[in-house]
Amino acid sequence: QPALAIQSLHKTYDNGVKALKGVSLEVAPGDFFALLGPNGAGKSTLIGVVSSLVNPSSGSVSVFGIDLMADRSGAMRQIGLVPQEINFNMFEKPIDILVNYAGFYGVPRAEALLRAEKQLKAAQLWEKAEVMSRTLSGGMKRRLMIARAMMTEPKLLILDEPTAGVDIEIRRGMWKTLQEVNAAGTTVILTTHYLEEAESLCRNLAIIDKGTIIEQGPMKALLAKL
Ligand code: ADP
Ligand code: ADP
Repeated sequence: QPALAIQSLHKTYDNGVKALKGVSLEVAPGDFFALLGPNGAGKSTLIGVVSSLVNPSSGSVSVFGIDLMADRSGAMRQIGLVPQEINFNMFEKPIDILVNYAGFYGVPRAEALLRAEKQLKAAQLWEKAEVMSRTLSGGMKRRLMIARAMMTEPKLLILDEPTAGVDIEIRRGMWKTLQEVNAAGTTVILTTHYLEEAESLCRNLAIIDKGTIIEQGPMKALLAKL
């Protein structure tokens, strides 16, 4: 079963913009997959559909074999989402942000504490577990966003332009955290407009432009063509 299977996905917004024009793609379990494309290509729309934030006009999406339209909550339980904007409470400690998030999703407290330790270590934030989040650096805050999304132990982690507008140091720190997440068995899909980012991280990618997938395959094969 693919981690993500998308067939003939179309999205026309109410204003008439055709953001997706028949997108099909498949991501294998355990893959690290990039959706690469320029601004306005349809990346956020695609991620929005997969994460149930945007209603598609037509087409189908399934996550580990669970059809998104037929069983939305079942499909969503497989997914962890890292939004672009940092949206945790700056006046809480990292450990509390993680434990409370897991609690919201019904994870018992003892289990949540174990997961929080694991995720804070993976995000190189264990020493910062008890500080006020406001005092974390920009890179630490972004890694905390990843750690939080991992608290529900999703099989598929999705990030929409996780490193947009951040400097190279911060980007590299986030890459390391994402590589750990992927090495631990989680399928990772990210959107990016940096070829360098896709190249550093991903085994497979799709290139999207004007709502259409124009290339899809292993990173190595695509680099050979460029
Ligand atoms: P949907 O079809 O998914 O309900 P809508 O077409 O209703 O989406 O738009 C959702 C929101 O995004 C609206 O509030 C709209 O004003 C806003 N929006 C409109 N145009 C754009 C755009 N080009 N980029 C981003 N957001 C937009
Ligand atoms: P990307 O993430 O690759 O930059 P988007 O999915 O945000 O691309 O946008 C694809 C197209 O859809 C763009 O033309 C954008 O202006 C338009 N768009 C995005 N969101 C909305 C919306 N809510 N309502 C109307 N148009 C939108």
